[in-house]
Amino acid sequence: NYETLDNVPVWTPTAGDSGQSRYPRNEKLDGKISLYSGDITKLEIDAIVNAANNTLLGGGGVDGAIHRAAGPKLKQECASLHGCETGQAKITCGYGLPAKYVIHTVGPIATGGVGEQERRALRSCYRNSLETATASQNAVRSLAFPCISTGIYGYPPEQAVHEVLATVREYLDEHHDKLDRVIFCVFLPTDKELYLKNLPLYFPGK
Ligand code: ADP
Repeated sequence: NYETLDNVPVWTPTAGDSGQSRYPRNEKLDGKISLYSGDITKLEIDAIVNAANNTLLGGGGVDGAIHRAAGPKLKQECASLHGCETGQAKITCGYGLPAKYVIHTVGPIATGGVGEQERRALRSCYRNSLETATASQNAVRSLAFPCISTGIYGYPPEQAVHEVLATVREYLDEHHDKLDRVIFCVFLPTDKELYLKNLPLYFPGK
């Protein structure tokens, strides 16, 4: 019951969607973006991103789901990494997961509100995860992100989506040759709606 990359449809804006785009069209990004609604642990791709905590030893939400699906060896490797700072990213093997690697990043806690620090940390999570994925020794060409910080960490999803899409768009503008697919994995129907509404602003079509 895994989803291979071929089973994850490419997202393409429909004509008329892109009237209010914030970025010009970049045809080099065609075919590289997907919106996947479901469990990130089912994706049989090069790497999935984990919304971890500073200890990297597992937690609730998507972190708990990833550790359960990967099995105890993931926690063993994570323990050898001595934690991770907010906004940074560290890569491990995927063990029992269908994904080859897990990129663990630590989102900002935003239960006290979103300021410049939280905004920068969230962008840094996405940027550093992309950089870790494409670092030459990792050679990850397909990558899926969950909605980092918008669960237990309390970052408002309708604000996060703009930071996420802007960061990925800016990274891909510079490094489109390094990745075949970036998948936005949404788990809640409300997040699916937010991404459907905002993707055309950052990845406009024809
Ligand atoms: P954080 O602590 O960074 O807020 P959470 O795991 O609490 O992380 O939530 C992040 C997002 O991950 C939320 O949108 C949540 O609905 C989603 N999520 C939870 N389980 C999964 C899963 N198995 N696959 C993908 N996304 C998931």
